[in-house]
Amino acid sequence: MDERVRSQLATDLPGASARGEIVAFYQPQIDIASGAVVGAEALSRWFHPRLGLVCPTVFIPLAEARGSIVEIGDHMLNAACEFGVSSARGGAAIDISVNVSAIQLRDGNFAAKALQTATHHGLDARQLTIEITESQAVQNIAAVGDSFDLLRLAGVTVSIDDFGRGQSSVDQLLALQANELKIDQSLVQNCAADSRTLLAAVISFAHDKGLRVVAEGVETPAQLAAMTVLGCDRAQGYLMGRAMPARAFDEFITASRSL
Ligand code: C2E
Ligand code: MG
Ligand code: MG
Ligand code: MG
Repeated sequence: MDERVRSQLATDLPGASARGEIVAFYQPQIDIASGAVVGAEALSRWFHPRLGLVCPTVFIPLAEARGSIVEIGDHMLNAACEFGVSSARGGAAIDISVNVSAIQLRDGNFAAKALQTATHHGLDARQLTIEITESQAVQNIAAVGDSFDLLRLAGVTVSIDDFGRGQSSVDQLLALQANELKIDQSLVQNCAADSRTLLAAVISFAHDKGLRVVAEGVETPAQLAAMTVLGCDRAQGYLMGRAMPARAFDEFITASRSL
């Protein structure tokens, strides 16, 4: 990306969520066995007044580097908890996943804040999942472990995102006591015979330890079939649906229930 654009974005980032420019989109997650939509992952989008839609792969690293990630993280948590309650009005409650950066977890108050936000909106803590990437988790193992402990005790699901992209040891992963493993889309999409053997071992190990396994980036029926055979519990990807605004998600889930 153009350096001038990036520096413009960095300048404009503070206050962007307060100005209403950062919006949560929601991507459906299905239970593989039943096919039902059982969850939604909140994914941030920045609608810049002049530059248009900016993706989180661009502005989240900027926010982490420039001190805006806590502001954005708080906003996303708030939006997701509110959405979790409203989306349940039409039917069964669904799980809501929120991505966090290690910087947010280094503030020892994150777990309390997350629980307070859920309570404020009337969201059951058991509906909430907090995701952190494998690479950020292992680089911040103490802070992440402490936050995970508090969240888990309160009933929140703690999840390792982009698993397989980073390089964590089994020891480190076990120390975190995560409840969920999200298999990175690169593994889902390039599931060749040899990596499939490895993936099968990882998934069965995760199940032994009581973790739920989610396949990310499922784009084709063949990939869904492969992840089903491998024993994944849930799937998320363009095949089921892209991240969409809250209103569109409500329509999506209503339509899925009448199938
Ligand atoms: P993630 O948490 O692993 O989210 C999944 C990403 O993969 C999303 O990209 C999603 O749109 C995309 N995706 C989902 N299904 C498919 C598929 O079938 N094919 C392909 N090619 N892509 C798929 P997105 O929304 O651009 O987000 C990118 C990353 O930015 C996220 O990866 C997450 O790490 C980070 N992120 C997004 N929102 C937030 C946030 O509010 N806070 C933090 N800390 N990070 C965020
Ligand atoms: Mg995620
Ligand atoms: Mg991921
Ligand atoms: Mg990611």
